[in-house]
Amino acid sequence: MELRIVSQEAENVASRFSRPSLTLPSAKSPVAPSWQQSIRHAVRAPDELWRLLSLPASLLPAARRASELFPLFAPREYIARMRPGDPDDPLLRQVLPLGDELESADGFTADPVGDAAAACGPGLLRKYRTRALLITTGVCAIHCRYCFRRHYPYDELPRSLDEWEPALAEIAADATLDEVILSGGDPLMLTDGRLTELAERLAAIPHLTRLRMHTRLPIVIPARVCDALIGWLRGTRLAPIVVIHANHAAELDGEVAAALAKLADAGIVLLNQSVLLRGVNDEADALTDLSRRLVDLRVMPYYLHQLDRVAGAAHFEVSPDRGRKLIEELRTRLPGYAVPRYVQEVPGAESKTPM
Ligand SMILES: *Cc1c(COP(=O)(O)O)cnc(C)c1O
Ligand code: SF4
Repeated sequence: MELRIVSQEAENVASRFSRPSLTLPSAKSPVAPSWQQSIRHAVRAPDELWRLLSLPASLLPAARRASELFPLFAPREYIARMRPGDPDDPLLRQVLPLGDELESADGFTADPVGDAAAACGPGLLRKYRTRALLITTGVCAIHCRYCFRRHYPYDELPRSLDEWEPALAEIAADATLDEVILSGGDPLMLTDGRLTELAERLAAIPHLTRLRMHTRLPIVIPARVCDALIGWLRGTRLAPIVVIHANHAAELDGEVAAALAKLADAGIVLLNQSVLLRGVNDEADALTDLSRRLVDLRVMPYYLHQLDRVAGAAHFEVSPDRGRKLIEELRTRLPGYAVPRYVQEVPGAESKTPM
């Protein structure tokens, strides 16, 4: 039941962010809601999602059950990009709790990528040479139904900078590392104050040269790309790389485009990773549109991940054969740099494994 704890933690994070003096902007207010308010007001109840999008009532009872195992969580600005009345909308599919999740499937397990074996200190994962992954927080700005971390024991993660000390000490002690990846959950759920502190601590480690972040926040709540974020990213000695996570071109609306332009204008290297998902982006047209749109927004398509076989996500799986055919088709339609690397995470392997 870790995930209920995660959802409770999201509550706590959100309430810590909201100061009592803060008043909500009215519908007419020219002031856009802050990203913290977007978290607070995200949709968590299947009944509300059904109302907002006029979804078929027949799917609701199973959604209520599935969301008890892994809670629904979707910010309103993300829901606003969905087509009402369409249960097959590619954005909706990513957050929609379904009865299918309750079926067990052969080979789909709680820890498909071997994170438990790679954990070597609180919040630090070291699977590959030269780069270490720091789990900075267990919370996300959206709950993706296919997520390989849906069963991750997030309640064991460090919460204050003090609790990161063992991880920081381990990074400092290993001069073969040159890059640290801030991951989660979503590292951009932390305040810019915390992130600045963490970036300063990492920048003080002489052998590190790059700071990478894996985040979905610029996609789901583009207001997260605020001046304070740009400020500390530009201010660190480490070369910043931001890897976003978009799965469909419809996620990249005008506000997301503006947020990405802010990052690109600040000189930050932008990459995208996607997951190949049945019913979301398993058509050549969808993948082509996604890559084109990303490149136009100055984001390089980096990885297309084969789905990790996490329990509850079997209905998203696309066969490797079909995946390879899709990539072949993309090669004929796109410039070489716009074709993502189709990879899989194999427990024990020394890098992501090409399909
Ligand atoms: C994917 C991943 C990385 C980063 O791998 P790259 O191929 O450099 O993008 C690092 N650590 C862990 C644990 C990962 O899962
Ligand atoms: S944002 Fe990333 S880590 Fe969070 S639920 Fe989605 S896929 Fe998982």
